Amino acid sequence: MKLIDLHCDTITMLGHRNARLRENDMHIDLMKLKKADQLAQCLAIFVHQKWCEKSGVSPYDYYKQNVEVFRREMRENADMIAPAFYSTEILLNDAKGLMSGILTVEAGEPLEGRTERVEEFKEDGVRMITLTWNFENELGFPNTMGGHLKPKGREIVDVMNELGVLVDVSHLSDEGFWDVVELSGGKHPVVASHSDARALCPHSRNLTDEMLHALGNTGGLVGINYCADFLREGANDATMEAVLKHTLHLIDKAGVDHVGFGSDYDGIGSTLEWKDASGTPELLDYLHRKISWDDLEKITHKNALRVFS
Ligand SMILES: [Zn+2]
Repeated sequence: MKLIDLHCDTITMLGHRNARLRENDMHIDLMKLKKADQLAQCLAIFVHQKWCEKSGVSPYDYYKQNVEVFRREMRENADMIAPAFYSTEILLNDAKGLMSGILTVEAGEPLEGRTERVEEFKEDGVRMITLTWNFENELGFPNTMGGHLKPKGREIVDVMNELGVLVDVSHLSDEGFWDVVELSGGKHPVVASHSDARALCPHSRNLTDEMLHALGNTGGLVGINYCADFLREGANDATMEAVLKHTLHLIDKAGVDHVGFGSDYDGIGSTLEWKDASGTPELLDYLHRKISWDDLEKITHKNALRVFS
């Protein structure tokens, strides 16, 4: 089944592991995605504030370096994958037998609170930006700290909505989440690219039922995260049963039109029952025990295509 995955950290990890996208020993490589019949993969540039500080590279320069990694991988693997900016390009690439790579950014540090950067990032091909990772930045606070969006964060969200760059609230504080929903004004879809249900697992990275309901009302999406610790409190292994439980809950609270997949592959240390991206079809078959193929089609790709359009 065609799948659009909203989040992974693979592009950034390539640099750290001195690996390539075509074939590696990580959760995601192109051979594994092909085996899983993947339609599109969001490839996040994950900007870790402290790594940047330690290596003396500004978050902006780090971001730019990784845009080049994304471009290199798209160029070198043009027989398997092509970048997609619009949802129509995802379908055009598919018609040519190519998977799509969608560029996203995890953590707003490289924006440095400068609204003009949103346009620049959009020109670079960025389609979605996660406002914070686990650190406070110019835009706001993570869910481990709490606190409202900062004035610069509010400005950035407005510009992102205006320019059609998706606002990703995964990692963001609860107060910040509600600020983003308010700023979306019911007109702009809000995305939580990789978060699960807090009612089932009380991790602050997960969303409450009220948040899931509100996210659905924006027309947005919540992407199911495979992190064991977000699925079951204190767990190290992600089971298909736990993913199914969260998926059913997300469908119940956000609505079946507002759920997708946000694997967090290569960003999580958990042991996965289905091993890696090549095993995703096995996971989908398991989900089909309780979810119809019609609904699974929405969750795997139709909802994401709508939100990207
Ligand atoms: Zn993350």
